[in-house]
Amino acid sequence: MIGIYGGTFDPIHFGHLRPALDILEGLGLEQVRLVPLNVAVHRPQPIAPAVARLTMLELAIQAQPGFVVDSRELDREGRSYSYDTLVSLRRDLGAERPLCLMIGADAYRGFLDWHRPLDILGLAHLVVMRRPGHEVVAGARLRHLYLERGSDSPAELASAPGGRILIQEVTQLEISSTRIRDLVARGLSPRYLLPDAVLKLITDESLYRSSATDA
Ligand code: ATP
Ligand code: MG
Repeated sequence: MIGIYGGTFDPIHFGHLRPALDILEGLGLEQVRLVPLNVAVHRPQPIAPAVARLTMLELAIQAQPGFVVDSRELDREGRSYSYDTLVSLRRDLGAERPLCLMIGADAYRGFLDWHRPLDILGLAHLVVMRRPGHEVVAGARLRHLYLERGSDSPAELASAPGGRILIQEVTQLEISSTRIRDLVARGLSPRYLLPDAVLKLITDESLYRSSATDA
């Protein structure tokens, strides 16, 4: 099984990384592919340039077995639809291998508004990570289709290429990129919320200095 972890990663922080490792090891995944988005669909656009977000990801996962940065959304023109990303991954990885799209509880709440959500479920499982301050709530249609029978089990995920939903316990870290950007913009330190190597790049490149955001 392979995990696909999409996001803005503006910047990557421990609230992304520790849950990703929990899932890599907890589900026994072969790898977690971190996929930074290019052009956002349902949220404000990233503040840091794509190349900086990519470099921060690479610095963050250095020497962590199983973590891989996948730049296919940056390499593609235009808006970043997870559906397109999964079609492209299926092309590379074959039809049979179980793929797990990893999303936080806040993203799960809006999942039915994504482009072709039920087709996404045809291509991959959803692994929903609990996140502090966000209840795990799905849209009514999804709840009807999937959640009335409860969360699927890791073994059920391993036995099919996609179509299951697993609600997964992960380390609860109340960290967001928005908070990190706001700290930096106010001249305060975001240290201990993200890897030191990522913070160094933010400092060296003067990222987020004037970016009070409301993302
Ligand atoms: P922003 O504040 O800019 O929205 P973010 O911290 O929410 O940034 P994103 O890049 O938007 O990070 O999130 C990418 C994915 O990571 C989403 O599925 C999101 O739910 C998940 N995620 C982010 N932070 C956490 C966290 N602390 N715990 C669990 N999941 C998280
Ligand atoms: Mg977010």
